[in-house]
Amino acid sequence: MTRPFKCRCIKSEPQIGYFKPRGIPLTSLEEVNLTLDEFEAIRLADLEGLYQEEAAEKMKVSRQTFGNIINSAHNKIAEAIINAKAIKIEGGVYKMTNMRKFKCSDCNHSWELPYGTGRPQVCPECKSKNIHRAEEDRGCARTNRSSGYGRGKCGRAIK
Ligand SMILES: [Zn+2]
Repeated sequence: MTRPFKCRCIKSEPQIGYFKPRGIPLTSLEEVNLTLDEFEAIRLADLEGLYQEEAAEKMKVSRQTFGNIINSAHNKIAEAIINAKAIKIEGGVYKMTNMRKFKCSDCNHSWELPYGTGRPQVCPECKSKNIHRAEEDRGCARTNRSSGYGRGKCGRAIK
Protein backbone atom coordinates (compact mmCIF):
# COMPACT_ATOMS: atom_id res chain seq x y z
CA MET A 1 0.00 0.00 0.00
CA THR A 2 2.57 2.48 1.08
CA ARG A 3 4.77 3.53 -1.71
CA PRO A 4 8.47 3.79 -0.96
CA PHE A 5 9.20 7.30 0.06
CA LYS A 6 12.13 9.30 -1.10
CA CYS A 7 12.98 12.13 1.20
CA ARG A 8 13.49 15.27 -0.78
CA CYS A 9 14.90 17.74 1.62
CA ILE A 10 14.41 21.37 0.94
CA LYS A 11 15.84 24.30 2.75
CA SER A 12 13.24 26.94 2.29
CA GLU A 13 9.87 27.63 0.88
CA PRO A 14 9.44 30.17 -1.87
CA GLN A 15 8.78 33.76 -0.91
CA ILE A 16 6.23 33.93 -3.65
CA GLY A 17 4.10 30.95 -4.50
CA TYR A 18 2.54 32.25 -7.65
CA PHE A 19 3.76 33.86 -10.84
CA LYS A 20 1.49 35.02 -13.57
CA PRO A 21 2.01 36.62 -16.94
CA ARG A 22 1.18 40.28 -17.05
CA GLY A 23 -1.98 41.36 -18.80
CA ILE A 24 -3.83 38.07 -18.76
CA PRO A 25 -6.72 37.76 -16.37
CA LEU A 26 -6.44 34.89 -13.93
CA THR A 27 -9.68 33.42 -15.14
CA SER A 28 -8.32 32.76 -18.60
CA LEU A 29 -4.92 31.61 -17.44
CA GLU A 30 -3.72 28.08 -17.43
CA GLU A 31 -1.22 27.24 -14.79
CA VAL A 32 1.54 24.78 -14.20
CA ASN A 33 2.24 23.42 -10.76
CA LEU A 34 5.86 23.52 -9.77
CA THR A 35 6.30 21.41 -6.66
CA LEU A 36 8.50 22.53 -3.81
CA ASP A 37 11.05 19.83 -4.44
CA GLU A 38 11.29 21.04 -8.03
CA PHE A 39 11.60 24.58 -6.77
CA GLU A 40 14.45 23.52 -4.51
CA ALA A 41 16.15 21.67 -7.35
CA ILE A 42 16.07 24.83 -9.43
CA ARG A 43 17.47 26.82 -6.55
CA LEU A 44 20.35 24.43 -5.97
CA ALA A 45 21.31 23.63 -9.53
CA ASP A 46 20.43 26.76 -11.44
CA LEU A 47 20.78 29.50 -8.88
CA GLU A 48 23.55 28.22 -6.68
CA GLY A 49 25.16 26.44 -9.59
CA LEU A 50 25.77 23.16 -7.82
CA TYR A 51 26.64 20.04 -9.74
CA GLN A 52 23.79 17.58 -9.81
CA GLU A 53 25.75 15.24 -7.55
CA GLU A 54 26.08 17.93 -4.90
CA ALA A 55 22.51 19.11 -5.27
CA ALA A 56 21.25 15.53 -5.04
CA GLU A 57 23.27 15.09 -1.89
CA LYS A 58 21.67 18.15 -0.36
CA MET A 59 18.20 16.92 -1.12
CA LYS A 60 19.09 13.41 0.01
CA VAL A 61 18.07 11.80 -3.23
CA SER A 62 19.99 9.87 -5.84
CA ARG A 63 21.59 11.74 -8.67
CA GLN A 64 19.14 10.12 -11.05
CA THR A 65 16.18 11.20 -8.99
CA PHE A 66 17.57 14.70 -8.84
CA GLY A 67 17.94 14.62 -12.61
CA ASN A 68 14.29 13.69 -12.94
CA ILE A 69 13.20 16.44 -10.57
CA ILE A 70 15.20 19.14 -12.30
CA ASN A 71 14.10 17.99 -15.76
CA SER A 72 10.51 18.14 -14.70
CA ALA A 73 11.07 21.58 -13.19
CA HIS A 74 12.72 22.88 -16.36
CA ASN A 75 9.89 21.52 -18.46
CA LYS A 76 7.25 23.20 -16.37
CA ILE A 77 9.02 26.53 -16.32
CA ALA A 78 9.62 26.36 -20.05
CA GLU A 79 6.00 25.54 -20.64
CA ALA A 80 4.90 28.47 -18.52
CA ILE A 81 7.21 30.92 -20.25
CA ILE A 82 6.61 29.72 -23.79
CA ASN A 83 2.88 29.19 -23.49
CA ALA A 84 2.16 32.10 -21.17
CA LYS A 85 0.94 30.09 -18.24
CA ALA A 86 1.01 30.94 -14.60
CA ILE A 87 3.29 29.06 -12.24
CA LYS A 88 1.96 27.90 -8.95
CA ILE A 89 4.56 26.68 -6.50
CA GLU A 90 3.23 24.27 -3.97
CA GLY A 91 2.95 20.67 -2.92
CA GLY A 92 5.22 17.84 -3.80
CA VAL A 93 7.05 15.26 -1.77
CA TYR A 94 9.48 17.04 0.42
CA LYS A 95 10.66 17.77 3.90
CA MET A 96 11.83 20.99 5.37
CA THR A 97 15.34 20.89 6.64
CA ASN A 98 14.71 22.95 9.71
CA MET A 99 15.65 20.85 12.70
CA ARG A 100 16.65 21.59 16.22
CA LYS A 101 19.85 19.95 17.20
CA PHE A 102 20.64 18.95 20.75
CA LYS A 103 23.81 17.80 22.33
CA CYS A 104 24.59 15.94 25.53
CA SER A 105 27.45 17.41 27.51
CA ASP A 106 28.11 14.15 29.30
CA CYS A 107 28.41 11.62 26.51
CA ASN A 108 28.70 13.98 23.55
CA HIS A 109 25.76 12.36 21.84
CA SER A 110 23.97 14.71 19.51
CA TRP A 111 20.58 14.29 17.92
CA GLU A 112 17.96 16.24 16.09
CA LEU A 113 14.30 16.87 16.53
CA PRO A 114 11.89 18.60 14.24
CA TYR A 115 10.35 21.84 15.36
CA GLY A 116 7.19 21.55 17.33
CA THR A 117 8.04 18.39 19.22
CA GLY A 118 9.05 20.02 22.46
CA ARG A 119 12.38 20.14 24.15
CA PRO A 120 13.81 16.78 25.23
CA GLN A 121 14.31 16.24 28.94
CA VAL A 122 17.15 13.77 28.92
CA CYS A 123 19.82 12.46 26.62
CA PRO A 124 18.45 9.43 24.73
CA GLU A 125 21.81 7.69 25.09
CA CYS A 126 22.89 8.15 28.69
CA LYS A 127 19.78 9.72 30.23
CA SER A 128 21.78 12.68 31.43
CA LYS A 129 19.93 15.91 31.93
CA ASN A 130 22.98 17.86 31.00
CA ILE A 131 21.85 18.59 27.49
CA HIS A 132 21.82 21.75 25.49
CA ARG A 133 20.78 23.06 22.17
CA ALA A 134 23.48 22.75 19.56
CA GLU A 135 23.96 25.70 17.29
CA GLU A 136 23.92 23.93 14.00
CA ASP A 137 20.37 23.43 12.82
CA ARG A 138 20.38 21.06 9.94
CA GLY A 139 18.74 17.90 8.84
CA CYS A 140 15.45 16.80 7.49
CA ALA A 141 12.25 17.52 9.24
CA ARG A 142 8.92 16.13 8.41
CA THR A 143 6.51 18.71 7.21
CA ASN A 144 2.79 18.55 7.29
CA ARG A 145 2.19 21.40 4.95
CA SER A 146 0.68 21.32 1.52
CA SER A 147 -0.98 18.27 0.12
CA GLY A 148 -0.36 15.66 2.74
CA TYR A 149 2.78 14.21 1.27
CA GLY A 150 5.91 13.96 3.26
CA ARG A 151 5.49 10.70 5.06
CA GLY A 152 8.40 8.59 5.99
CA LYS A 153 11.49 8.84 7.99
CA CYS A 154 14.38 11.04 7.31
CA GLY A 155 16.98 13.03 9.04
CA ARG A 156 18.87 10.36 10.89
CA ALA A 157 22.50 11.12 11.43
CA ILE A 158 23.51 14.18 9.54
CA LYS A 159 27.24 14.34 9.11
ZN1 LIG B 1 24.33 11.65 26.93
